[in-house]
Order: sequence, then structure tokens, then C-alpha cells
Amino acid sequence: MYHINLHDRETLKSYCELSSKAKVSKKILRISDFVWGELNDGKWPIRGRHVSEKVISDNPCCFLCALIELEENFQKICKKKYGIGVDMVDFDIDGIKLLVNSDQIIEIELDKSSY
Ligand SMILES: [Zn+2]
Repeated sequence: MYHINLHDRETLKSYCELSSKAKVSKKILRISDFVWGELNDGKWPIRGRHVSEKVISDNPCCFLCALIELEENFQKICKKKYGIGVDMVDFDIDGIKLLVNSDQIIEIELDKSSY
């Protein structure tokens, strides 16, 4: 799962700035990320197959909801693809990167480290 440091004002403020820019200009705000984890069918021993996917959240209500949606997105994709659940590894959010700023969309990528 994602871990966010609430003292990291820079990340939170730059997210909110981009989010209000998107709203004002009626653009889609997309958060995308590439995450990985271990498949888990709930039986012992855990199968341990490592999988990774690109996940997105469009126009989330706020940064925290975006993170929740990205995690759920990963669960959904894996459930569909492999028929079982997945345990996402732990990620620390280090910041955000602006990927695209076009007429229709502002796309942000998460900067993170796993542990
Ligand atoms: Zn929210």
C-alpha cells in the first residue's frame, strides 16, 4: 500500500495546484503509477508470484482518494487477470511528476520508493 508523509507539504500543495488548474480549464486530471505486488489466493503457503501493472485514477476527489483508487485498480486488474487477490508492496510517496499537460488532460505520475 501507499504511505504518505503528511508533513510533505510540497507534494500535497503541488497536487492541489494541478488539481485546481485542471478543474478551472475543464481538463481531466489523471494520476498514473506503475505498481507491483505478490499474488495471494488466501491459502497457505502464499504462491508468491510477483506481478506488476500500470494503474490510473481519473479526476479523483482528492490526493488520498487517488491513492485508494490506484490500490483498488491494482486489485481489480489482478483479480480479472489471475482470478485471485494481490498484496501490493509498501511504497513511500516521495513526490509527484507532471507527465502531460495538453488541451484535454493533465497527467501526473507518482514518485515513490518501495521497501
Ligand atoms: Zn477524497
